[in-house]
Amino acid sequence: MELQDLNVVVIGAGVGGLAAGALLARKGAMVTVLEAQDYPGGCAATFAREGYRFDAGATIGCGFHNGGPMDILGKELGIQWPVSQEAVAWQYRHNSIHLDLPPQRLGILERFPRSAPFWKEQADLAKLLWHLAEGGLSWPAKGARDLARLARKGIAGLPGSAHLLSFSKKTVHEWLASHGLDSDPDFVRFIDAQLLVSVQTTSKYANAINAAIALDLPLSGSYRVKGGIGTVSELLAAAIEENGGAVLYRKKVIRIDSVRRQVFGLETSDGSALAADFVLANLPPESLSLLTGQENKPEVVMSESPQWSAFVLYLGMDPALFSALPTHHVQIIGASGELAEGNSIFVSFSPGDETNRAPEGLCAVTISTHTRPEQWFQAKEKGSAVYLELKSAYTARVLNVLSEQFPEARESIRSITAATPVTWERYTGRFQGLVGGYPQTSLFKVRGPATSFDNLFLVGDSIFPGQSLPGVVTGARRAIELLLQRNNKTGREQQ
Ligand SMILES: Cc1cc2nc3c(=O)[nH]c(=O)nc-3n(C[C@H](O)[C@H](O)[C@H](O)COP(=O)(O)OP(=O)(O)OC[C@H]3O[C@@H](n4cnc5c(N)ncnc54)[C@H](O)[C@@H]3O)c2cc1C
Repeated sequence: MELQDLNVVVIGAGVGGLAAGALLARKGAMVTVLEAQDYPGGCAATFAREGYRFDAGATIGCGFHNGGPMDILGKELGIQWPVSQEAVAWQYRHNSIHLDLPPQRLGILERFPRSAPFWKEQADLAKLLWHLAEGGLSWPAKGARDLARLARKGIAGLPGSAHLLSFSKKTVHEWLASHGLDSDPDFVRFIDAQLLVSVQTTSKYANAINAAIALDLPLSGSYRVKGGIGTVSELLAAAIEENGGAVLYRKKVIRIDSVRRQVFGLETSDGSALAADFVLANLPPESLSLLTGQENKPEVVMSESPQWSAFVLYLGMDPALFSALPTHHVQIIGASGELAEGNSIFVSFSPGDETNRAPEGLCAVTISTHTRPEQWFQAKEKGSAVYLELKSAYTARVLNVLSEQFPEARESIRSITAATPVTWERYTGRFQGLVGGYPQTSLFKVRGPATSFDNLFLVGDSIFPGQSLPGVVTGARRAIELLLQRNNKTGREQQ
């Protein structure tokens, strides 16, 4: 079918769904995005509440550097992203260790001088990977053509790439050990803390290649998005509409209708029905299965490392508390040195010049910590008293960790709201509130966009390369690539 005649429905206005929709609309397809909420962005939304505009989950804009996935996407869609680079991506704090993460490694090298050869290797790997990701990554490979294309890209770009590919089966722990860095608990904790927020697992399990690009973030640049991270999705939604598509809010898809391997339509909770030639589901596979009524059998066995959800506090605060920081983000590991479950937190506050983000003289703060979802759903089952008690305990734990580094924290708070995995499930439609994508333990055990239906593809952070704005945009390009291949193949078969 000609692209202009192709009716594509996207379920969900997360960054992955919107990027895919916008690229297809730009190419001429008829795109309709159905979003359950009344705002776009999902995990990377900015929502309004009592005079504040809070970033729901994601707070750091990444991939906007020259040639990065967001930069290329913006140029292709004619979007001028309202971003500015932070001088320091974020500050890391554990007890008396305070490390700024600017686009150079100076502070880290001063504190951990033996780590220099490790960072040199990381930089070489990241350079290759950014190069491979330009214009999309044909991964997971679907045959010889994809492999040949990847090899051509890598070899043409960097002659040393074959050596670097030897990292593809290494864990970060093995990589650290090869430099004798595994015996430095402060360095391992620092790396683990960075990996947990970027590849959703720690050095023992994280794949070295995934980690190399994740650890590059402070160097490639952390960007502040004017108006909050949700502006990215608002601009993508506008790009879809400018190219003749539609983004419809309060349209929760409750069912996908299919015959054998072919999807032909969708139904929404308000009783609408839509036909589709292709469907892109901006959902985790478990949530998709609930809509198709069929288990979406994964093509590969994913990592055995369980996925995370998040516990998040949204606070109205006096910004004076953070006035000595060189950035709008600080990562704090509590005195225990443990990670996740309220023991380590990521704090972001709205810039002072963004007066629409908070009532006068205040700022909008998002504090997140990784948590396993099961305990929250079990507490909910036991009744609201048990659930609220757990919520209070986590709130106290997070505020204790914040107070260790900012003793006046509690007095600076003007309002407070907490989101648990139950909240995440409700607001993003993600099964068990599992957010942040899959733990990146292997380059090979990864999910691609294909599903058990010929004309239904996944987009978002449950497919390779996983979480983050540039991650889901790269995944969206792969979904489009497969969709167009499938459309061409069907066209040839019908001739
Ligand atoms: C706490 C936290 C902090 C993070 N920090 C960062 C960061 O600083 N920088 C960064 O780059 N990334 C960060 N991430 C990761 C990033 O936010 C995600 O990887 C990315 O936003 C996921 O996008 P997605 O395309 O998978 O869609 P999602 O964000 O999952 O959105 C899916 C959309 O689909 C909609 N939907 C679901 N079901 C239905 C249905 N049945 N019908 C209609 N609509 C439906 C939802 O309402 C939602 O809008 C963070 C994530 C979290 C949770």
